[in-house]
Amino acid sequence: MTVTRDIKASWNAATKLVHAGQTRSQFKETSETIYMTSGYVYETAEEAEAAFDNSQPRFVYSRFGNPTVSMFEQRMAAIEGAEAARATSSGMAAVFASLASLVKAGDRIVASDALFGSCQFILAEILPKWGVVTEFVDGRDLAQWQAALAKPTKAVFLESPSNPGLRLVDLKAVCDLAHKAGATVVVDNVFATPLLQQPLQLGADVVVYSATKHIDGQGRCLGGIILGTEKYINETLQPFIRHTGPSLSPMNAWILLKGLETLDLRVGKQCESSLKIAQALKGHNKLAQVNYPTLEGFPQYELAKKQMSAGGTMLSLSLAGGKAAAFKFLNALELVLISNNLGDSKSLATHPATTTHQRLTVEQRAKQGIDEGLVRLSVGLEHADDLADDVLNALKAV
Ligand SMILES: *Cc1c(COP(=O)(O)O)cnc(C)c1O
Repeated sequence: MTVTRDIKASWNAATKLVHAGQTRSQFKETSETIYMTSGYVYETAEEAEAAFDNSQPRFVYSRFGNPTVSMFEQRMAAIEGAEAARATSSGMAAVFASLASLVKAGDRIVASDALFGSCQFILAEILPKWGVVTEFVDGRDLAQWQAALAKPTKAVFLESPSNPGLRLVDLKAVCDLAHKAGATVVVDNVFATPLLQQPLQLGADVVVYSATKHIDGQGRCLGGIILGTEKYINETLQPFIRHTGPSLSPMNAWILLKGLETLDLRVGKQCESSLKIAQALKGHNKLAQVNYPTLEGFPQYELAKKQMSAGGTMLSLSLAGGKAAAFKFLNALELVLISNNLGDSKSLATHPATTTHQRLTVEQRAKQGIDEGLVRLSVGLEHADDLADDVLNALKAV
């Protein structure tokens, strides 16, 4: 007999991150079990029949559900305050499934133009082939949202803060406009993590994560998750996932469960260090701009304070000397590593214009605020003073 851990709704997120969703086997193990199995057995043919006609819900095949994956889903739902969740093999599988399960030919999507490169590709290249067209707006500009949402709309997709420009969208205002247009709002909440911003409480219908980022946060595996109402998850999303198969491995679900146990500690420390580094860099003569949502002087500082409990673990710096200066800076870093991943315990820096956002045209990048001098910095768990020293020293080389 397995027993599911009881949790109190009143417990803080840090507590739920350690305990929520755990199911213990008859052995009463402390740590979550890795159920490394693709299938399940039935005592009788009747039992198999009942499992397939859903009169006896149970695990039938790991493409549809698995006990370790389910623990990860339950834990995430508990901290997000969502009715239900489905995990996926990567963040992009989550973004794609969340939208593709919702739309049909002829439908229209409205999206913020400051998006992760692959999210933009899904909306601008893949979905149009299937007759679903997206109108992109400047996510910071409510007037543009209002104009685009004056027409019936099936879905709204946005990222806040955005990658790598750290542009914010007023979640509450856009959700209100979207609902008047009949749209389901899908928020990619990767940069804020489940701890710093709760889109569902601000009116969003669906939240997606790349669990590869802060949820693992230690560079070990890919994963993704989609959270929403029971109706959306079970009726809209589940049939799509069940039959198309972007399922998460039980091994990776276990790694992500272990990642969640330290998420609060890691993100808290990373936010503190990020703000310190942003403050140390503000006004530096080699930098045209320092972007960090809760740094005083950030254009959307008030909105950041309103909808986020901290500024996050990411900052971006625009070097005044363009691409040559950005490359000199990256090559002079001794502690911070050059890598396009983010949310890791190791601090990582990347040049979006030539890596993550290389595929976009110069004009598209300019629209998102990605100039040739922009460097994205993902702040890890090293001591903040060592990180600030490394970044300031590398700026000297420019
Ligand atoms: C990384 C990332 C994704 C994609 O996640 P993968 O796990 O790499 O597939 C989607 N959105 C944002 C904002 C990301 O940073």
